[in-house]
Amino acid sequence: MQGNERECITRWEHAFEADPAEKEKYYLTVAYPYPSGAMHVGHGRTYIVPDVLARYQRMRGKQVLFPMAFHVTGTPVIGISKRIANGDEKTIGLYRDLYRVPQDILDRFIDPMEIVRHFSEEYRRVMQKSGLSIDWRRRFITVDPQYSKFIEWQYKHLHEEEHVVKGAHPVKYCPQCENPVGDHDLLEGEKAEIIKFTLVVFSWDGARIPCATLRPETVYGVTNLWVNPDVTYVRVTLDNEEWLLSREAADKLALQDHDIRVGEEVPGTVLIDQTVSHPLSGEVPVLPATFVDPDMGTGIVMSVPAHAPFDYIALRDLQQQGKYTSIRPIPLISVEGYGEIPAKDAVERAGIRDQNDPGMEALTQEVYSAEFSRGKVFEKYGGRPVREARDDVAALMMERYGSIPMYEFDNRQVVCRCGGRVFVKILHDQWFLEYSDPCWKEQVKVLLERMALVPPEVRTEFDRTVDWLKDWACTRRVGLGTKLPWDPTWIIEPLSDSTIYMAYYTIAHHLKAIPPEDLTPEVFDYVFFGEGNPETVDRETLDAIRSEFLYWYPYDYRFSAKDLISNHLTFQLFHHRAIFPQELQPQGMVVFGMGLLNGAKMSSSKGNVFLLEDALEEFGADTVRMFLVGSAEPWQDFDWRNELVSSTKRQIERFWNTVEEAKEAEGTSPIDAWLASRLQRRIESATAALDSFQTRQALQEAFFGVEADLKWYRRRLPEGTAGGAVMQDLCRTWVRLLAPIIPFTCEALWREVGGEGMVSFAPWPEVDETRVNPEVELAEELLARTVEDIESIVKLIPMEPKSVSLFVSPAWKHEAFRIIAASADKTKVVREIMQNEEMRKRGREATDAAKQITKLVLKLPPDLVKQLAASSPDEQAVLEGARAFLEHEFGVPVTVRSAEASTHPKASAALPFKPAIVIE
Ligand SMILES: [Zn+2]
Repeated sequence: MQGNERECITRWEHAFEADPAEKEKYYLTVAYPYPSGAMHVGHGRTYIVPDVLARYQRMRGKQVLFPMAFHVTGTPVIGISKRIANGDEKTIGLYRDLYRVPQDILDRFIDPMEIVRHFSEEYRRVMQKSGLSIDWRRRFITVDPQYSKFIEWQYKHLHEEEHVVKGAHPVKYCPQCENPVGDHDLLEGEKAEIIKFTLVVFSWDGARIPCATLRPETVYGVTNLWVNPDVTYVRVTLDNEEWLLSREAADKLALQDHDIRVGEEVPGTVLIDQTVSHPLSGEVPVLPATFVDPDMGTGIVMSVPAHAPFDYIALRDLQQQGKYTSIRPIPLISVEGYGEIPAKDAVERAGIRDQNDPGMEALTQEVYSAEFSRGKVFEKYGGRPVREARDDVAALMMERYGSIPMYEFDNRQVVCRCGGRVFVKILHDQWFLEYSDPCWKEQVKVLLERMALVPPEVRTEFDRTVDWLKDWACTRRVGLGTKLPWDPTWIIEPLSDSTIYMAYYTIAHHLKAIPPEDLTPEVFDYVFFGEGNPETVDRETLDAIRSEFLYWYPYDYRFSAKDLISNHLTFQLFHHRAIFPQELQPQGMVVFGMGLLNGAKMSSSKGNVFLLEDALEEFGADTVRMFLVGSAEPWQDFDWRNELVSSTKRQIERFWNTVEEAKEAEGTSPIDAWLASRLQRRIESATAALDSFQTRQALQEAFFGVEADLKWYRRRLPEGTAGGAVMQDLCRTWVRLLAPIIPFTCEALWREVGGEGMVSFAPWPEVDETRVNPEVELAEELLARTVEDIESIVKLIPMEPKSVSLFVSPAWKHEAFRIIAASADKTKVVREIMQNEEMRKRGREATDAAKQITKLVLKLPPDLVKQLAASSPDEQAVLEGARAFLEHEFGVPVTVRSAEASTHPKASAALPFKPAIVIE
């Protein structure tokens, strides 16, 4: 680490501790990390981008709160600790080699709290090294006793208001951990959903043969069952009845409220060609099918060839071999757009060859959707729309024909962090947050409407999540965390104890001084609602705490990654809505894109990460910050590539050198006014970009924009001069513009340019209107464009130039420019021009010029056209004034003449803002 970085870290140690003040506040928070391993550069961006905004708002004169804490609730560290204790080589390797934990510390990891302690300290250290402007006094971990008191208070309210209810629900469950698992706890299958199937029960030889289906209404169209001849099925006693199904299915149903005893095995071949029956379909044969998966549903499938493309094709394949030719599809649903047998239609239209065709999946979905949305069951089966008939038939079968539900994941493998497979289990006496409650959902929707969401596209995703959220199992039997206050055999799980902690930050440092047993629910009621009369804490302290809470709350912006929309970011809205009054609801959220490393998704478990601390050491903190900010806007995905990071380092060095050199600058040049004016534009654009969270755009303006201006400025300086006093001025502004992004460099340079105090608290540059000079900028724009045109001609001609002649456009062409710029329909401008007496007199010359000027107007930036139409510069004077510059640039004599006064054949090509150029 460089000396400068070390010095800044010391100077900043307590600098960002923010107390309520007599100024406007700005409170932003980022999802707190789970410190179970080292931070990588992806985490880096999650915290650095908000830090840039915190620093910006601070320089705008606001009182900024940017706090941090550590989330340690749940089972992950317990699992890690167990695996290390058991000598699991993979885990030990990850911690020893990738995270480089010293052996003596690693040995202590058999206590999960040691892991938490070690990595939360590491996180804090690396965050400081990254230059995060955090108020560390408020830091806590989620198993601190004071925090637990806060969570108990939260859940007491949720319970009283019946947002937490007890019930039987299907949940994701890991038999190995004997625990329900949230998306947090999964290695694979985070997005898997639980689907409810109906088991349609056929009879055979005294046993019940169940087929899982999502379309119970199609039972009327069953022509046969499919059984896999290669699978061994089992007879089981399920709740005192004899059933026959796959072993996998039996195991799954055992987790779903059924008493199951497994009996004898039955090879699939025994079932082939047997006859089974169901009251609604009659007797049907059992046919062989190797595509039947014993791990999907019950491992036995009912076949409805008229409506399921898969069944249709499988039957056709058999019949093409001359088997089972007497079976005919039995249609039962009519649907617009399809013939009598929809599955046959769809298969033939798609040109499907056989059951292995890759198009089958999509085709199945197509027919399913069409029939569900527009289909109608035949009159003889009730004549109702499919969507109604489906539920009716399912209810009928449950009631009369022995059907039961079966829950499965939607096609996806779901794996727990422990490595074990996750199943659907029905849990009783489990506590649920009732996110399915329509009233609660409605309140959250109203809240969302009022919130600022960045980027705006995420709004639909939030709305969708609110609609789709189901009840959430919020307690666990094992893990770190807070016990459910009214049922302490349960522990509140991680996604449920991290929903309103943004409020806790506002008072966390005060609570550290209060014994946890004094933090009764009455204390929190007083602090957060101003209600009641708690006796465990004195009133003066309570009033101070409450007033601090009210100063900061509600929070202004919450930052988090987009994969948390479907849980955390939406949960926290539900909880805020349930707990806090109207005026304290969240104001905005900024949703981040994901991090890639050399084009692939970063993942600690897969080892595809670059550790943040390594990056900080190798490139320096500011380089890492500038790269992370510059590679993408916050909501876009970004890609870390070492070779690109190196070039960022050189950019910062250039900046440093420029500012150093400018210290000596003095005197004045005519071009100074231009530089000062451009700088005002950069301030304006960078400010607008940061106000809308476009940190990348802000960097473009504040760094690359200013650098480009400087390049032109230096080129325009008289020979032998190094820049006037305006440079000193510019550097003082420039250092402040970049301070939020590269604060280490800017803190050091701020002192160099004579700034007072820390740049972290220096005022953000403001646009000085008196220095904005559009005429000067326009004149330079003309000159720069002319230089570019000359350069491109020089490149094209084969000879060494001897002289350059410039011919400036006559006044009447400027008049034509104004008419064309103002015309709404550029296809009719020639006619418009010819209505003008002056122009008509010029005849062909005027029509030609009109065409050329139209082209030019369409090519120039619209703002520039507007400006030129309003007042065009005196081109002759501008170019004549820059003649010495041009002669120096091209090393030949330059003449500037009026095109009108010249007889040179090329002079007539002169257009407004585009002099004719003759090189001889
Ligand atoms: Zn597990």
